[in-house]
Amino acid sequence: MDLVSSSTPPFTRPKHPITEAHGHLPWLGKALSMLSLEGCSSVGEAIERIAARADAMRASPPGAWLQAHSARYEGWAERRWMTLEELDRVTGSRPTLIMSFDHHAVFANSAALAAAKISRSTPDPVGGVIERLSSGPRAGEPSGLLLESAAFGTWAAAPEPEDSVRDEQVASALHHLASMGFVEMHDLASPLWLGPLLARLEREGRLPLRVGLYSLVEEIEAAAASRVTWESARVRLLGGKIFTDGTLNSRTAWVLEPYAESPPDLRHGKPLMTPRQIADAAERCLRLNLGLAMHAIGDGAVRACLDGISEIAPSLRRSVAQSVPLRIEHAELIDAADVPRFAELGVVASVQPCHLLVDIEALHRAVPGRLDRVMPWKSLIESGLVPGKTLLFGSDVPIVRADPEDSIQAAVLRRRVGSGERESINPREAIDEETAWRCFGAGLV
Ligand SMILES: [Zn+2]
Repeated sequence: MDLVSSSTPPFTRPKHPITEAHGHLPWLGKALSMLSLEGCSSVGEAIERIAARADAMRASPPGAWLQAHSARYEGWAERRWMTLEELDRVTGSRPTLIMSFDHHAVFANSAALAAAKISRSTPDPVGGVIERLSSGPRAGEPSGLLLESAAFGTWAAAPEPEDSVRDEQVASALHHLASMGFVEMHDLASPLWLGPLLARLEREGRLPLRVGLYSLVEEIEAAAASRVTWESARVRLLGGKIFTDGTLNSRTAWVLEPYAESPPDLRHGKPLMTPRQIADAAERCLRLNLGLAMHAIGDGAVRACLDGISEIAPSLRRSVAQSVPLRIEHAELIDAADVPRFAELGVVASVQPCHLLVDIEALHRAVPGRLDRVMPWKSLIESGLVPGKTLLFGSDVPIVRADPEDSIQAAVLRRRVGSGERESINPREAIDEETAWRCFGAGLV
């Protein structure tokens, strides 16, 4: 995704080591193995790249799917998706899926539609659309374009890679992050196989950076029980992970003030956990001497997390070591009353400034009256959070790319380079470049 224009001010890399505090190694590895359609200028160019990949896959087993990402038809000369015929002609019987740059649409060839059991008679799934041809001899048949839940469902129909392929994908994800200058990364929602795999890569001399893992809280006991077999000085289990709301773009982030624009059943988004359930999850992790990472994007979810943390038994709260923190992930909206509670309760804010660059339009549409509550990092620092210790920067790669300079740009400018100053989101919360780099300085492993 082209977030940074050529007029990006030259940011100066800091002397201190930098950490990616929120990423997903398995997904990143998968994304890196796929064909990228970034920068294509026409349907023809996209089809050409797909044809070349299909050719290169000729020796692969017939069950292997061709997957591509970063399709952006708005940037193609024809301003339309490819047709099913155009795609089928170059992919033949190999199931093929093309994902749009924003992950909300997928174009499938006929073999992939058949494998996902999508036909003329398949109804649209809840929350999704199977686009149909409106005219011609095949009117009523799926066009190949799938939106929202129909896109996710079809993507999920593609088979998981074999273990050996998956392992190499994780190795390439580690290499990718190291090439960006990171010496440490934190993996959120780590599957149970990831720790043992990282230990093996370390033994083989193929672990270029330290990794901290957060397992789903449902699996935290299993992860804690197995950690003796794979933990090392460079690979550590840091805690559990929970989801307390959804996302802003889908209007499922849990917000205190109703959305300006949302489906009627999502006026306040989608709360997923109560403060008591959050406290229970935190206590479950703390009893194992582990931390907890809480996904909370809206200000309602952030408040529920802080309320939950304040309910934790004091004896357990005291046992929280700096190395096993309780962290709120994302925190894109924070009510003014909740800003000082982070430092008061000893809660870490793990945020992704680069998301501001992609969310500008969504924020203007969804919460126009709450823009003064968006990503208030300066206020968090003034209330006592310490850059690199209790205020951490990351990217959520591969949802967006991991280049730390995107986050520096967002934290310093509060807008995309090249856009007008009036596009800035909550510019009073801008921080200086040196402070922003310090937020990448966390070392937990
Ligand atoms: Zn994430």
